[in-house]
Amino acid sequence: MSEPKLVYSSKINKIRTFALSLVFIGIIVMYIGILFKKIPWLMFSFFILGVLFVLFSTVVYLWIGMLSTRAVPIICPNCEKPTKMLGRVDACMHCKEPLTLDKSLEGKEFDEKYNSARYRRQLKKKEQSEH
Ligand SMILES: [Zn+2]
Repeated sequence: MSEPKLVYSSKINKIRTFALSLVFIGIIVMYIGILFKKIPWLMFSFFILGVLFVLFSTVVYLWIGMLSTRAVPIICPNCEKPTKMLGRVDACMHCKEPLTLDKSLEGKEFDEKYNSARYRRQLKKKEQSEH
């Protein structure tokens, strides 16, 4: 029996998958519209909704493009392929190796919470109380 392995996918890949699924949802919604072709107003409603989904995915794709320019390009220490990371912790796009830009987080369990502002505030508080 093999243990289910937790795989972290990189944020850019996650958003890309999300944008792609939006396109498919849009197509499915438009297809449902065709099923209602006897009721024109319902068919048009589904069509418009489908178009909105596709338009929204375009917006998400543009957003990925903007994020990519801000992402830090690095060479993955595990597979030695170039990858990009967003935020303080992210995963390699190729081998899903957890990566961090923060030395203090090195070797720690990969956790999305390291990117949240709340966690950073807590960390600051903790540091201040220690000094
Ligand atoms: Zn890698």
